[in-house]
Amino acid sequence: MDNKYKWKLWTVLILSILILLGLGYLHYLRKGTQPAAVVTPTPAETLAPSGCPTCPADIVITDEPASTPEATQTPAQETATPEPTQEPTKEPEITVDIDSDDSINRLINISYPVDPSYVPKDLRVVNIPSSESEYLREEAANALEQMYKAAVDNQVYLRIVDGYRSYSEQLALYNYYERIHGKAYTEYVDDHPAASEHQLGLAVDLGWYNGNCQLNPCIATYPQYQWLLDNSYKYGWIARYPDKKSDVTHITYSPWHFRYVGSEEAAKIHDSGLTMEEFYNRPVKAN
Ligand SMILES: [Zn+2]
Repeated sequence: MDNKYKWKLWTVLILSILILLGLGYLHYLRKGTQPAAVVTPTPAETLAPSGCPTCPADIVITDEPASTPEATQTPAQETATPEPTQEPTKEPEITVDIDSDDSINRLINISYPVDPSYVPKDLRVVNIPSSESEYLREEAANALEQMYKAAVDNQVYLRIVDGYRSYSEQLALYNYYERIHGKAYTEYVDDHPAASEHQLGLAVDLGWYNGNCQLNPCIATYPQYQWLLDNSYKYGWIARYPDKKSDVTHITYSPWHFRYVGSEEAAKIHDSGLTMEEFYNRPVKAN
């Protein structure tokens, strides 16, 4: 091989080495400046630290699951809260018949009268001291006789002032009171024809055996009256026209007047502290 040919061979070899080195350097430069983020991070790794710093490392957080449950839960809680505001409708459920004339729970007042011809079919004489024979419906009479015995056992001595009154008796009484006391007074006594509990045979005016405070509010000033308030409902009787309730019942305070409604209903009304008009949400419509 001559020198000329050798020189050409060395030149090609050196150039080739230089080209290879240049290419290698370029490749090194490109690798060194390439952004690391493009290669390594996954969505889970990048969201976890910012979206949930306290989350365990093995929990993968993605955009969708993190936001969707919250978005659906919040409205659910918001729609659940208004429900309690509907509760305050604390109207007691009426579980008895307050409309039928023969029902022991018949609500009667000037807004809900009975037919003038109405007469209970099961009236009987009550075996309790009274100035003349007094009548009540069978069930009410039985209950009152039991209460009378219990009262005597507790040194509370009662008598009946008035029990059942017919429509004609009611009418006569009403006209009498109106003549003597005037219409304004008569409007608030429980003698309205066809609108009195006495015509139902389910009401009684009670008095002390000695006649003190008969049909007078002073009957309630006796310590024995408290026994009636505390125990009458156990026998199905309620104090029907309490003090400071005449604007509701349209009947003046009449502590002597008791109404039979059955022991179960009497307990409910007694415990409620309400009148029948309030308990059944049937206010008297003023004339
Ligand atoms: Zn009465």
